Amino acid sequence: MARHLITSAIPYINGIKHLGNLVGSQLPADLYARYLRGRGHEVLFLCATDEHGTPAELAAAKAGKPVAEYCEEMHGVQAEIALGFRLSFDHFGRSSSPQNHRLTQHFAGVLADQGLIREVSETQMYSPTDGRYLPDRYIEGTCPNCGFDSARGDQCDNCTKQLDPVDLINPHSTISGATDLEMRETKHLYLRQSAMKDELEAWIDSKTEWPVLTTSIAKKWLNDGDGLQDRGITRDLDWGIPVKKGDADWPGMEGKVFYVWFDAPIEYIACAQEWVDAGKGADWESWWRTDKGAEDVTYTQFMGKDNVPFHTLSFPATILGSGEPWKLVDYIKSFNYLNYDGGQFSTSRGRGIFMDQALEILPADYWRWWLLSHAPESSDSEFTWENFQQSVNKDLADVLGNFVSRVTKFCRSKFGEEVPAGGGYGPQEEALIAELTRRVAGYQAHMDAIEVRKAAQELRAIWVAGNEYLQSAAPWAAFKEDPERAAVIVRLSLNLIRLYAVLSAPFIPDSAETMLAAFGPGARRDWPAGDASDFEALPAGAGFTVPENLFAKITDEQREDWQSRFAGTRG
Ligand SMILES: [Zn+2]
Repeated sequence: MARHLITSAIPYINGIKHLGNLVGSQLPADLYARYLRGRGHEVLFLCATDEHGTPAELAAAKAGKPVAEYCEEMHGVQAEIALGFRLSFDHFGRSSSPQNHRLTQHFAGVLADQGLIREVSETQMYSPTDGRYLPDRYIEGTCPNCGFDSARGDQCDNCTKQLDPVDLINPHSTISGATDLEMRETKHLYLRQSAMKDELEAWIDSKTEWPVLTTSIAKKWLNDGDGLQDRGITRDLDWGIPVKKGDADWPGMEGKVFYVWFDAPIEYIACAQEWVDAGKGADWESWWRTDKGAEDVTYTQFMGKDNVPFHTLSFPATILGSGEPWKLVDYIKSFNYLNYDGGQFSTSRGRGIFMDQALEILPADYWRWWLLSHAPESSDSEFTWENFQQSVNKDLADVLGNFVSRVTKFCRSKFGEEVPAGGGYGPQEEALIAELTRRVAGYQAHMDAIEVRKAAQELRAIWVAGNEYLQSAAPWAAFKEDPERAAVIVRLSLNLIRLYAVLSAPFIPDSAETMLAAFGPGARRDWPAGDASDFEALPAGAGFTVPENLFAKITDEQREDWQSRFAGTRG
């Protein structure tokens, strides 16, 4: 039994995420956590909401709520949807927690002590009317390029030209409309990432088993252009973690907060503290401090490719730079993008299927199966309704659901609701057991390597093998001539249902639970041992009930209805 720390990239607070976000980090992380728990390992699986920064302020303003209240509410919404998708976090924390405040201030303090923080003077737009500095997105004016009158400080949405707020003609504050804006000098703290380039590069180079997608992105940021750049860790905002040097004030930094990219990954650690403070765990340091037991922890992170630079460089710079014995990530699993029906998912344009909408139309397992079996691992992948319908109807309904239904109903009608006795294995059973023993080992190998699509393919092949066996062994025909022969086929097939439930639980936990529940609370739930005993866990005489139909097929009418409903903008 090993100890596994698993984190999913933390979703931003400003709204409900779409299915592309889900499959890019939270869902495969959950798959892996469930698999490792199933195999008997000790797992701590953490996620949280990322709550600071300008977009949270803007979203709160749009919702007409104070930002703290907005974040608390949205955290609750996201937590409930995560539960709906059966994401089995041990704790779903918040980057705005007091624990993260303290820890972020602590890291800034020790990084300063190590000489890795420098002060930089910059000029930024200040609004005396609003009494604050304005981030680029809070400034609008006329585009100098095309004359569009609502160009933002960072970009013109009409001609897409990248802008600097000083380029705008007649700039004004989007908060108050004030036009008396002025450039003021302001000081910020920078993390000296450039000073850590060699140490970071040596660390990345030691990770020879990491996916190429992960290491290639890291190497690009390390070496392209002028190489790894120092990065600002503070902002002139109200909403965020106040800049402090540990517990002490930071002269010259009054009224400033840490930049969201700096405090967000530190929440991975703070989240473990929140987990303990919520009474769910006893000791967070044994997961995070290598001087307190975390030496034997394997730490795996899940994220979309856009998050790779922060996790391979910026967060490790924070950890390594502190000089303290914090646990570094052992393996980073990154994902490409999932596209939606000929285009991109888009939160800002409301395009695609959002997590709440998905659960309104179908149970979580349908989505989990499709998303994981089509995870964008080696390249981007695409959701289409046709493919989704086909995958659900074939894999889940025709193959798995049909097998469970036929076996249990046939047994009930011929032998009653208990595992039948009599008969012995023949060549067909020997061949099936040999095939499944080999395939289960293959499935485990893919899961150990976090090869999500390959694992799904192998699992499907395991389901198919049982179906083909049932079809060719044909207990309904054998029963007339040789009931003992039918009994052994049914006994093995009932055992396959239990085996399928255990193996499938990481992908489709609710359906797996329904399958296991058919055999009563005493049914064995242990992971297959990899030998003949896996096929005899349910002895003759063990009772069962015929479960409800596991999966309903998606009709063409439903598919067309959903296709048009989700084609436009989220209402
Ligand atoms: Zn323009």
